[in-house]
Amino acid sequence: MYTVLAGGVGAARFLRGLLEVVPAREVVAIVNVGDDLTRFGLRICPDLDSITYWLAGVVHPEQQWGRAEESHVVASELERFGHEPWFTLGDRDLATHLHRTSRMGEGAPLSTVTGEVTDAFGLDLRLLPATDDAVETRITTSDGRDLHFQEYWVRERGRPEVTSVQLAGAGSARPAPGVVEALIDAEAVLVAPSNPVVSIGTILEVPGIRAALHTTPVPVVGVSPIVGGTVVRGMAHRLLPAIDTEVSARGVAEHYREWLDGWVIDNVDAAQHADVEALGLSCAVTDTMMDDVEVAAELARTCLYLARSMR
Ligand code: GDP
Ligand code: CA
Repeated sequence: MYTVLAGGVGAARFLRGLLEVVPAREVVAIVNVGDDLTRFGLRICPDLDSITYWLAGVVHPEQQWGRAEESHVVASELERFGHEPWFTLGDRDLATHLHRTSRMGEGAPLSTVTGEVTDAFGLDLRLLPATDDAVETRITTSDGRDLHFQEYWVRERGRPEVTSVQLAGAGSARPAPGVVEALIDAEAVLVAPSNPVVSIGTILEVPGIRAALHTTPVPVVGVSPIVGGTVVRGMAHRLLPAIDTEVSARGVAEHYREWLDGWVIDNVDAAQHADVEALGLSCAVTDTMMDDVEVAAELARTCLYLARSMR
């Protein structure tokens, strides 16, 4: 079993490569749920859905999230009632949310429903929400507001300055069934190039997960989401200062060093190789820009090679 800590798009691109290299049945992804929200009574899980749509080959190719060949009939009819359309709800995507919400209303945990969704899309890997319990990422801004992650990122387009990030509800959350086992019993644990604050950071806030990473006997190898001193996409460069972390491949490695064993950085950051090894980590340098599946597969091979070299 190969276990991957995963946010949304960066993780989906990485998993697509990993599935070229190892059988899907041997892959478990532990996915961030801090981004999840309820709109019009529907439970929406953007990171789980981005990964599902990517791996099923039905993701919107330019957006890199949501469904390809999407329409927005329901969303435009909702505007008639004066609803502000800040969070996109495509018609095809809505079917996923309707299924999930109705099953959860019957009492099914998110992890069970996630299995139903991935089965329906023909996927053989296992996606596990970090927790089945109600948590959400809250953003505190420098003007003193407390926003849901999606209000900050989608509604306000990531403009406010962020002073802190919390996973609300984490105190009483438990890892979803299978999460801790997947971290302890794996061949290797891989950390996808996902946002260190609002994807990997929020997964680690679920009590028991960080501890499992500390105690796991298997190598933990990550890919830097920071390339050439900035992000490939998203807002990690705006959030890392809020957790006193330098916006560099080395800086994220330092932030993870307590539980990390190996770190894969991009060719453009090759000069940081010695700095990463000076943190006590093994470091590999390769192309990490996963614009095509061959690069992603080669990156996954590099991660597994680094992990095997440390066993
Ligand atoms: P989400 O899609 O918004 O949930 O974001 P993720 O948690 O997946 O994180 C996106 C992070 O992945 C950003 O920090 C990006 O810089 C990084 N990322 C996305 N694509 C790539 C890639 O091809 N290579 C590398 N090295 N990082 C990437
Ligand atoms: Ca996300």
